[in-house]
Amino acid sequence: MDLIAHIREVIDEHVKRECRDDGGLHCRCGAKELTDHSTHVAQAIVNRLGLRREAAENAKRVVNDKIRYVSALFDQELTVLEGAE
Ligand SMILES: [Zn+2]
Repeated sequence: MDLIAHIREVIDEHVKRECRDDGGLHCRCGAKELTDHSTHVAQAIVNRLGLRREAAENAKRVVNDKIRYVSALFDQELTVLEGAE
C-alpha cells in the first residue's frame, strides 16, 4: 500500500461529525469534543506514519541480524576450512 492510500485510510477513519449540541466536534474514531478536528486528523496521520517507520526499522534490524548471523556462520566455515589445511 502506498503512502497516499495510507493517508486516505486515516482520513476515512477520522471523518468529522458535527455535534453542535455538545459544543464541539466528534470524530468517527470515537474522539469527542474536539476543538480542532484538522489537527486531530493530522496527528492521526503522523502517528500512522510513525508506526510505519518503526515497522520499517524493525524489519531492517531483523534483516541485519540475519546477515550478521550468516556472515558469522560463513566466517566459522572458513576458519574450519583454514584449520583443515
Ligand atoms: Zn479521530
